[in-house]
Amino acid sequence: MDKFVYQFSEGNKDQKDLLGGKGANLAEMTRLGLPVPPGFIVTTEACRHYLKHDRLPDDLRVQVTMALRRLEDEVGRRLGDSVDPLLVSVRSGAKYSMPGMMETVLNVGLNDFSVKGLIEASGDERFVWDSYRRLIQMFGKTVLGMEGEDFSRVIEAAKQAKGVTSDLELDAQDLRQLVEDFKAVVEEKSGRSFPQDPREQLDLATRAVFESWNTDRARVYRRRERIPEDAGTAVNVCTMVFGNLGETSGTGVCFTRDPSTGKPGVYGDYLVNAQGEDVVSGIRNTLSLDDFAEVDPDSYQSLRTIMRRLETHYRDLCDIEFTVERGKLWMLQTRVGKRTAAAAFRIATQLVDEQLITMDEALERVGGAQLAQLMFPQFDTDAERTRFTQGMAASPGAAVGKVVFDSATAVAWAARGESVVLVRKETNPEDLEGMIAATGILTSRGGKTSHAAVVARGMGKTAVCGAESLDVDEEQQVARADGVTMHEGDVLSVDGSTGEVFVGRLPVVASPVVTYLEEGLEAALVGVDEGTADLIQAVDRLLAHADAVRTMQVRANADTGQDAERARRMGAEGIGLCRTEHMFLGDRRVLIERVILAETAAERADALVALLPPQRADFVELLAAMDGLPTTIRLLDPPLHEFLPDRADLMVKVARAEEQGAASDDDTRLLAAVNRLHESNPMLGLRGVRLGLAVPGLFAGQIRAIAEAAAERVKAGHDPRPEIMVPLVGSLMELHLVRQEATRILAEVAEAEGVDLEIPVGTMIELPRAALTAFRIAEEADFFSFGTNDLTQTTWGFSRDDVEAAFFAAYLEKGVFTVSPFESLDVDGVGRLVDIATREGRGTRPGLKAGVCGEHGGDPDSIHFFHQAGLDYVSCSPFRVPVARLEAGRAVL
Ligand code: PEP
Ligand code: MG
Repeated sequence: MDKFVYQFSEGNKDQKDLLGGKGANLAEMTRLGLPVPPGFIVTTEACRHYLKHDRLPDDLRVQVTMALRRLEDEVGRRLGDSVDPLLVSVRSGAKYSMPGMMETVLNVGLNDFSVKGLIEASGDERFVWDSYRRLIQMFGKTVLGMEGEDFSRVIEAAKQAKGVTSDLELDAQDLRQLVEDFKAVVEEKSGRSFPQDPREQLDLATRAVFESWNTDRARVYRRRERIPEDAGTAVNVCTMVFGNLGETSGTGVCFTRDPSTGKPGVYGDYLVNAQGEDVVSGIRNTLSLDDFAEVDPDSYQSLRTIMRRLETHYRDLCDIEFTVERGKLWMLQTRVGKRTAAAAFRIATQLVDEQLITMDEALERVGGAQLAQLMFPQFDTDAERTRFTQGMAASPGAAVGKVVFDSATAVAWAARGESVVLVRKETNPEDLEGMIAATGILTSRGGKTSHAAVVARGMGKTAVCGAESLDVDEEQQVARADGVTMHEGDVLSVDGSTGEVFVGRLPVVASPVVTYLEEGLEAALVGVDEGTADLIQAVDRLLAHADAVRTMQVRANADTGQDAERARRMGAEGIGLCRTEHMFLGDRRVLIERVILAETAAERADALVALLPPQRADFVELLAAMDGLPTTIRLLDPPLHEFLPDRADLMVKVARAEEQGAASDDDTRLLAAVNRLHESNPMLGLRGVRLGLAVPGLFAGQIRAIAEAAAERVKAGHDPRPEIMVPLVGSLMELHLVRQEATRILAEVAEAEGVDLEIPVGTMIELPRAALTAFRIAEEADFFSFGTNDLTQTTWGFSRDDVEAAFFAAYLEKGVFTVSPFESLDVDGVGRLVDIATREGRGTRPGLKAGVCGEHGGDPDSIHFFHQAGLDYVSCSPFRVPVARLEAGRAVL
């Protein structure tokens, strides 16, 4: 019989696949002897079985009975009993945290019978009726698919009848009546009565948790967080403890370090006389841990001891949910906590300094995506500003956008390219799509642990929460604070690092981490606050460690001396790709146009000669910026029509001119050339090496410019290291022909200039045929560089310019892939070609240098693959260089 049910005391933290994150950690805390209310876990395997077969596994019923009986014996109380009855919570818990995405039912076990037992045991009639009505409400919503509205309407009516405004003013008798009214609503809306059998409640709640794996919002969240669709959720059945039993009870959430800034010291929110969901939903504003220490010093002390214990055990920031029931502390959940990028870097190095983890472990705990986030610009503190409101700095960043008040508008406006700030009283899981669409989130309620804060931090989205002066009227679509009113469409600037919100658009400035990366540690530390200094030092230490352990080099894709200099400051160890076509943008475009329009060989030769000086000058600059480091210069790659005016525009222009009998010769000739060069599939047409072979003298001129630039630098006593790279090669012969020409020109220039020129000639691998015949191509190639943009395009047969907009959304939706293959390398397909070409290329030419210069060179996941494939370097845009250094280091661990 498969084991589908585990007592808390049977599992441990390493069983997240089977027990879910929450269950595995509850088990771990139980094993540590911490005060966890007893319970059991129904495994993710049972969930997968249910989702596949649409029914619970047969064995499950029996195993739940056994676990339940053991639980009852352990706590000495029975589910549904008329004397001191046991109540349980039924909560979801997948392997990966999905905050608020799935269902929970509390107070399971209450019915018309056990209600009496609980009144006697607790001595608090109001509390018991309130618990019962909460059960019916949650059960109705999650199990019976009713609307929240169905219940809130009844509550409103009850309050109105009594002439009160707050739920707290309803007394035991009112709540008792409410229970009856709720039962009637359930009958009316769902067509069945609220089940009185506690076991039936438990089984239906379990099933509802399983079902909630597939709600729209859970799917959206999984897609966004790249959580596998088939993992399923576990169900945690846990003895209820009550934080709402009066002033000596309460519930809270805490962190062993500040998850927002990484500042050392504990951090948390506490609510007196409340149940768990009240804190996380952010419906009431909370007390700090310091206030909690005043209110209940004993529980606070126990909590601090446990926090330290957990941090020592997990050796990481832990986030904890706890409840105090009449002065007794209970642990309801813990996990290694989510944190912002800044907190990740600071905490990792703090833990090293506290000798709790090694530097390798610290490096494993930060990521390139987080570093990229730290490089985002921030608001300019010197700019004039009008403050709108102030809340808690829930998730850092500088977001500027138009105010919207609901998720649907956020999605619609973002789809038409607008930046929006989603302004809400509080957010709940239904707002998820709006939060994804928004650049920033602002709420008037809730603490740093509210849903909005937790989800925003997870997404790396700027958020300010709990802005108390803010009054959000979602109906009227206005937000007011300190006498200022904002309407839909007005612009706000949200500073998630300070919690401030400003009216209008504030200018942004570079992040201090970028100052550090560009100007060095000393310069970056001048005049910054302690937290920023701490962060910069953490980044510096972790990058240094990554540099020390990594085996792959990191180069930059840069086309100008200026870009190259910046890249070098950011740690680039060479240029992996200089796209020479970028040298012919702007005014210089006509130089290429002249080559294309030349009608005689002499005209073309003249035009080609004119290309030489500007290119040589650019190469000199580039080689100067990269002196002593490899500088890979790629010969012209794009289809030539890209250098000519747009065909449709030109046709209209010429047709109009002809109508008026005034067509110019130049335009007519240009149109003829454009027509001649027009291709249906230009990316598969006359480009890359094909251009070099079809347009005599084009590559030769470029090769000469490179050689002469190098000679000039050598003669001036410098150390230029150019490498010539041929694009879009598919066969050995193509490369052979270009190489032959290169060898001749390089020798000519060396001789004429009187210098030695050792310039390697290599090829890009960006066609499947090149990868599959790499063992041959390597005969003529001094190096390989994978152009994974084109290699992805040609392997999948996806037009890189069209498909993302055309149908990738549908592909992502249908799960064909979880991320665009242009963003993160398709390891199974394109990756296999990279692997084959590297291995077989080196079979022919041992030690063949191989790198990658497609966009994937800066993508964290792809970098790990390239390391595994044995590449010598990755090359990416200058701003990605630090990210790549970090990830190349992490790839080794
Ligand atoms: C590539 O194809 O991956 C590449 C680097 O070349 P480009 O993007 O210029 O086509
Ligand atoms: Mg390419």
